[in-house]
Amino acid sequence: MALSKNDEIELAITGTTHDGSGVGHWEGLAVFVPGCAEGDTVRAHVLAVKKHLAYAKVLEILTPSPWRAQPDCPAFPRCGGCAFRHIRYEKELEIKHTRVRDALRKIGGLTLEPAPIVPSEAPDHYRNKAEYPVAVENGKLIAGFYARGSHRIVDAGYCLLEPELFERALGAFRLWAAETHISAYHEADGKGLLRHIYLRYAEGTGELMACAVVNGGSIPKPERLAVLLQGTCPGLKSLILNENTGRGNVILGPRCQTLWGADTITDFLCGLKIELSPLSFYQVNRRGAEKLYALAADWALSDGCGLLLDLYCGAGTIGLSMAGRAGKVMGVEIISAAVADARRNAARNDIRNAEFFCADAEKAALRLEAQGLRPDAVVVDPPRKGCSAATLEALCRMKPRRIAYVSCDPATLARDLALLAQHGYCCKKVTPVDMFPRTAHVECCCSLEKLI
Ligand code: SAH
Repeated sequence: MALSKNDEIELAITGTTHDGSGVGHWEGLAVFVPGCAEGDTVRAHVLAVKKHLAYAKVLEILTPSPWRAQPDCPAFPRCGGCAFRHIRYEKELEIKHTRVRDALRKIGGLTLEPAPIVPSEAPDHYRNKAEYPVAVENGKLIAGFYARGSHRIVDAGYCLLEPELFERALGAFRLWAAETHISAYHEADGKGLLRHIYLRYAEGTGELMACAVVNGGSIPKPERLAVLLQGTCPGLKSLILNENTGRGNVILGPRCQTLWGADTITDFLCGLKIELSPLSFYQVNRRGAEKLYALAADWALSDGCGLLLDLYCGAGTIGLSMAGRAGKVMGVEIISAAVADARRNAARNDIRNAEFFCADAEKAALRLEAQGLRPDAVVVDPPRKGCSAATLEALCRMKPRRIAYVSCDPATLARDLALLAQHGYCCKKVTPVDMFPRTAHVECCCSLEKLI
């Protein structure tokens, strides 16, 4: 029977997509059923039928999959944060591993089998950062998450990915908002003051940075907010106001003011003291990051390294964690606040063989290559869109022996590995690392070697 909208069907779920949706097949059509797991048999209502695929909504689970788990969060799946709360963690790891293998094959044309995925020590409470969009409803502050695929805000209860401390910090913001009657920003008309609440926690020291992101230059009663926050979060080290008057959906604006306490917080990572300002990138899973960096270091430094280039270096963490075993480290990063953190982090840890530059990675790679820089090893850790072809080509012309490519997107990674292969860099190993349990994201560390 050909499938039509509003049909009710019985479907065997034979696969799970990378974002946690079940997939079954009906007369050559792939039918996507959110909330299902491979191994389920379900009764489903067809919502839409396209040429090669259809979407359906589960009505009843007739036979549950052996991989099914009882979701342990009341906000799942309304909240778009987690993808796999209905699936056991071992299966989630397998889905992520398969995703990496498929991307390498289909996008990169590589038949390399990824190494076993490195699981997270803690599948819950691993995040050290949250950015909550806010709204005011009936005079009450709603601070939470965007519902899956929309810009409607779901109020955050207790989030299993985050430290419990964040819920207490949100409680202080809620009290302050009720006392000050602060308005919330509306995307539609660009009016209203409070846009986001941004929290960052340094797990190694217990220090908390709280940040109010506002559509303006000040907030009412900042000293009262500091008192309320200290009351619920004794580790509060820094209260920041971030000004974001732009109309887009970028969360943080370029200007920060310290309202109370210090400008930065300090964490411990790979045995180093790492100081972080509000605008610089920091890995959200600190223990996961240590494992990831160890993989990159094992490869980049394995046969001795004179000069190491750390491209997309953020606050300098990867390069600094390797500086003791390299002759010299050069880091490149586009956000100037992160470069300032990287330099300060080198000084604080008494690392004297590291230099950091604020530049676009592509421009820096072309310039360094033209200057005759010949690093022994390069670590690249780009954002999701990966590296530009010009960046990778310039890196290849510098002829490093080894490249460690750290990636948070298997698709762009596979594309970039294909290009690197054309320029004489062979991918020896891809190790997926589960830095983001329960979510759809997966990180990888790849070891590339120059073919002679
Ligand atoms: N290696 C760091 C940061 C990785 S995240 C760590 O592990 O913490 C990627 C970093 O690339 C971010 O700091 C981001 O600001 C930076 N970035 C993004 N686009 C860039 C570009 N075009 N040139 C240089 N750096 C860029």
